[in-house]
Amino acid sequence: MSNAPCGFVAFADDGTITDVNQTLAGMLRHPRAELVGAHIEKILPPGGRIFYQTYLFPMLKVQGQVEEVYLALRASDGTDIPVLLNGARREREGRFVSDCVCLRMLQRHEYEEQLLEARKLAEQSSAAKAKFLAMMSHDLRAPLTAMYGNAQLLESGAFGPLSPEQRESVEAIRAACQMQMTLISDILEFARLDSGRVEITFSAVPVSEVVARAEAIIRVHVSEAGLSFTTRGCDDSIAVMADPSRLQQILLNLLTNAVKFTPPGGEVAVMCEREDERARIRVRDTGIGIAAEDLPRIFSPFVQVGSLPSSSLRGVGLGLAISRDLARAMHGDIMVESIPGAGSTFTIDLPAAQVDVLTL
Ligand code: ADP
Repeated sequence: MSNAPCGFVAFADDGTITDVNQTLAGMLRHPRAELVGAHIEKILPPGGRIFYQTYLFPMLKVQGQVEEVYLALRASDGTDIPVLLNGARREREGRFVSDCVCLRMLQRHEYEEQLLEARKLAEQSSAAKAKFLAMMSHDLRAPLTAMYGNAQLLESGAFGPLSPEQRESVEAIRAACQMQMTLISDILEFARLDSGRVEITFSAVPVSEVVARAEAIIRVHVSEAGLSFTTRGCDDSIAVMADPSRLQQILLNLLTNAVKFTPPGGEVAVMCEREDERARIRVRDTGIGIAAEDLPRIFSPFVQVGSLPSSSLRGVGLGLAISRDLARAMHGDIMVESIPGAGSTFTIDLPAAQVDVLTL
């Protein structure tokens, strides 16, 4: 017991040390005999004495025991020895004695300091990231907005009529600006999601509303691409618990892909269904499909597979990564099934909301 690999000290209610093992005496560099009979405060630093009077001893007295108390003991040369202490107060030979075991915690102390330092660095880097994002969103977008606006002005004939070649050139500038703006938004959105900076505001959202809004936006692209568009089951009887604008964003991403990867003459459909506590919105296309071995990769950032559509429609491969992160942030997910050459179905799975909540 005396040389066990942990310190042991027993003290009476008045603080007198009644027993101490050799391990603890050695740890504190005191002769053992000098400690027995001394006051417990002899082996505590000033802060530890206050802790002993206001917490440690009262807890022992009230609860009869303490566990995993982290405190410092004071060695004879004045250095502090951090220890983890477990104690129990019991009656022995007519008086109360508190028995305590102390494990030396030097390494954990160093480890904690390293953790604190690492946390400080992470906080600094996260603040730098936030500043960078705010700066980038403004500085990258502002010149593009100016280019886009001026191209639009030229195109409208505000500065005189354009020759067919000039018009074509101006249109190309405007289309390139548009594409660049989409890319920047995607990259910034992904960076924001990655640093946990996206706020989600939940409400009960009828799927009919989200689908109708997405349809209004996508319709023109659907007909330009020579496709047909249908919806099924997306009525007022189904609602989801989600952030309406985020859900809209996901649905538009999936619909844009469906249009992008479906050759003319094909079909894009949105289907809604409810099953117990979950609701699902499916986006199905009859497009080029995705090979089975590529399916697990397409949700990873910057991954594009198979043959790519014409360059004006090319993204950077962030749409699905963003969509899935957003769905997961709303306690949902996105799944995919596909048959190469026949088409793909992307399913947004979300918690269903009570429809009567909507009418309150
Ligand atoms: P992006 O559309 O910008 O390339 P996404 O993250 O939206 O990026 O999609 C990643 C990749 O997944 C696409 O490049 C494409 O290869 C594949 N993909 C996504 N949706 C479909 C779809 N409906 N049909 C076929 N392939 C798809």
